[in-house]
Amino acid sequence: MRVSRQLLGAVIGVTMLALLVYGVLAYWLTQNADLQKRLELLGQIGQEIAQRLADTKGTPAPHTLERLRSQLAPAHSVLLWETGNEALVIAADPQTDEALLTALLSWQQNRQSREATEEGRFDSPGGDYLWVQSPLPGRAEEALLLLEPYGESPSASTLRSRLVVSGIAILWIAVWVALFLSARISRRLEEKNQALRHQALHDELTGLPNRNLLLDRLRQARSAAQRHGLPFALFLMDLNRFKEVNDTLGHHFGDRLLQQVGKRLGASLRENDSIARLGGDEFAMLLPETDRHGASVCAGRIHQVLQHPFDIEGVRIEAGASIGIALYPEHGEDPASLLQHADVAMYQAKRSGGYAFYDPGQDSHSVRRLRLMGELRSAIEQGQLHLHYQPMLDLRRGEPAALEVLSRWRHPDLGSVTPDEFIPMAEQTGTIHALTVWSLQQALREDPAPDLTLSLNLSPQCLQDAALPEAIADLLARFDFPATRLQLEITENAVMHDLQRARQLLNRLHDLGIRLAIDDFGTGFSSLAYLRELPFDELKIDKSFVIDMAEENNLAIVRTIIDLGHNLHYQVVAEGVEEPLGLERLRALGCDRVQGFLFSRPQPADALRDWLREGAWRQTGRAASRGA
Ligand code: C2E
Ligand code: CA
Ligand code: CA
Repeated sequence: MRVSRQLLGAVIGVTMLALLVYGVLAYWLTQNADLQKRLELLGQIGQEIAQRLADTKGTPAPHTLERLRSQLAPAHSVLLWETGNEALVIAADPQTDEALLTALLSWQQNRQSREATEEGRFDSPGGDYLWVQSPLPGRAEEALLLLEPYGESPSASTLRSRLVVSGIAILWIAVWVALFLSARISRRLEEKNQALRHQALHDELTGLPNRNLLLDRLRQARSAAQRHGLPFALFLMDLNRFKEVNDTLGHHFGDRLLQQVGKRLGASLRENDSIARLGGDEFAMLLPETDRHGASVCAGRIHQVLQHPFDIEGVRIEAGASIGIALYPEHGEDPASLLQHADVAMYQAKRSGGYAFYDPGQDSHSVRRLRLMGELRSAIEQGQLHLHYQPMLDLRRGEPAALEVLSRWRHPDLGSVTPDEFIPMAEQTGTIHALTVWSLQQALREDPAPDLTLSLNLSPQCLQDAALPEAIADLLARFDFPATRLQLEITENAVMHDLQRARQLLNRLHDLGIRLAIDDFGTGFSSLAYLRELPFDELKIDKSFVIDMAEENNLAIVRTIIDLGHNLHYQVVAEGVEEPLGLERLRALGCDRVQGFLFSRPQPADALRDWLREGAWRQTGRAASRGA
């Protein structure tokens, strides 16, 4: 609207300016041409009069002059006969007014400045006049002057009135043209605006709404839901194998796949559901008036529809999709939290396959997880980790023989984080190497009991690190710690994962003099034949069998493992000894070493030193013997 008004104003303004310039110019030119013509005519009249007076002797009589004037010159003119400065005969129209005489006087006064010219225009206080000065043939000093009042010329006056009329007409036309143009331009602009608006709110590739429009629709859906008290569902979906398609077949195929996915989604949803592409292979769907049941029916359908292979230029592509669902108002009230929760659910769906509803339990878990994963490395550097030690007792001697080194994380905000939570994270993020080096170094530094073996846990990843034996040897040398006092605990699965590499590494470690133990034995699937080839010294029975040895099956397993271990010449350790009864059974089965809460929980170096000094285990051991 503003644009069209401006346009209208501009067209009218420009037309008026052009008309004005044109009018002034035309008027001025016409007036000038007319002036020239009239001066010429006046000159001829002057000459004619001069001719007729040529024979006159001396100064002509006033009536002679007046006769000639009235015969030849136009009305209202004045004729002057002048000789030098003295003789002055004036012949004038009887109608001539005072103004003309005043002009005449003024003309005479300004005479000097006009000496050189013979004709011209003369503006005086009494009005405008044309004048010509005609020389008198044969008379040197005498001159004849003719004066005629001069105003607007008739042709200029005609032109003026025509200009006014045509100006109005042109202005009128201009207004209509401007109106027409502005209407057209406004329409064009509106179309352009609409295209831009569309572009700003839609995804170029699929033509589907984009994140901005989705957010807008979410807000609308929320208002509607609030008004009518009905729930709605938000789906967030991504394709399971999009990256593969893009990487192996190229972006062209990836783009075509996304377009086809968009179409299939459109075909499997209702008219008033919204589908948006949020970027990459991420799509969102907004389903108004949909509850949990409706959402799962829809998600199931979409999942099924996308399960069918796509045919892109003859190539069969199986994309598959994971859908996360957040329900309003159950899982969030505002668009941002709904989107975030649908996102969390989508990751859940990725793990479980198909679709998943938002689960707040999972969410807090994953938020905490992300945070801990991100902070672990700096936690090591900032000294948030420390060590606990748990003793292993030699049953024959009834004395502690070794200490298992166990890491602890005291998080400044989240309190203590268990190794069962952070060790897998360390393994996942690669921080495990730093953590292993740190815990070995710390254990060697603290060394709570110089006559006991220190038993350190080694994660599977560490077996891939060819530089590990050297790093350990360096640390041992630095702390002047005998290799024979160090034991490394490795789970059986870790070894089985890459037997060849593990064998090399374990041999090198063993060659250094380090003891090696198989940890958590009984939970994996190791082949004893393979294990036999590896240089293990000790076998630790997993605590899950030991804790509840009252259970017949567990007892049988523990017995079998002890026999087997002994047959293969391993020292056998049972961990998870909580009950005196269990201890007695293990003793009876000939188990070599025991570890468990019955004797001591893992504790910091200082507490453990006290525990060792007090000989607290003797109490426990005796009580257990009496109880048996
Ligand atoms: P693990 O190697 O099997 O360590 C023994 C775990 O059993 C310890 O749990 C210990 O507290 C617990 N335990 C000992 N006796 C008993 C008992 O009588 N009853 C019960 N219920 N539990 C008992 P913790 O300290 O929570 O460590 C858990 C796991 O974290 C360890 O299992 C080990 O795999 C891992 N871990 C701990 N520290 C480190 C470390 O520095 N490096 C690596 N790679 N792993 C570590
Ligand atoms: Ca262990
Ligand atoms: Ca264990």
